[in-house]
Amino acid sequence: MKQKKQIIIFTDLDGSLLNKDTFRFDEIEDYFRELISIGIKIIPNSSKTEAELSDFNNQYNLNLSFVAENGSSIHGLNLIHNNLPERISLSRSTDQIYKVYNENVPFDLKQKVTFILKLKSKDQKEIFGLPLNQMMLAIKRNHSIPIQFNGTESEKNEFINIINDSGLTIQSGGRIMNICDINNKSKAMLKTIELIKEEISDEIITIGVGDNQNDIEMLKRADYACLVKNDNFDSSLINIDNLIKSSEPSPKGWADVIKTAIQKIKT
Ligand SMILES: [Mg+2]
Repeated sequence: MKQKKQIIIFTDLDGSLLNKDTFRFDEIEDYFRELISIGIKIIPNSSKTEAELSDFNNQYNLNLSFVAENGSSIHGLNLIHNNLPERISLSRSTDQIYKVYNENVPFDLKQKVTFILKLKSKDQKEIFGLPLNQMMLAIKRNHSIPIQFNGTESEKNEFINIINDSGLTIQSGGRIMNICDINNKSKAMLKTIELIKEEISDEIITIGVGDNQNDIEMLKRADYACLVKNDNFDSSLINIDNLIKSSEPSPKGWADVIKTAIQKIKT
């Protein structure tokens, strides 16, 4: 008998599924729900926090498993199979990360670091550029410490080197830097697949969708790699076989690449 196929889509959210300005995907919502209704699993794999991703599920009345904080934790796999855990951590906690920071970064460089969580919410709001309610969800970080570095470029490089040497990493996004453990979306995707395979005997076929540098590793490890058009990301140097690219940005581009990938899987 032919083995059943289970398609799992691992998708970035901002700029991939969600419009990068409105953070919504209404234009393709019907198609999105149709995919779920025919049994395709969609797992958001995002740099957003658990609080933000739970809010996303609530807002759209969805029940999706998800990966939070750039591969730091996996949530809701019990929704895919009863035997799977509700939460898996792949990263040290913020307290543990802070301890490593504190022990390794010299005093003079610490003077240049502003901890965003210690600022007044008015200042935090300005830095994040989000409405208050959304910002409150964005700062609930379980596995990373958002900071600003107020030094010269060479001091900043020195700081980053020290962080890297102490077994942590820095993720930069706009005006904010995050001190995190060494984890990424790709590792979390592979861990998720490994766990699902323990419980489900179907052939697992993965589609990875992203729009930016921090998605590329995940795309490389997916069976079908999809890149949604992003004007701020130069994809000409990306070297992935059979990469499916959209000519439109999110959310329309998301539906386009998924349709192409599913077509390929069927043939
Ligand atoms: Mg993105």
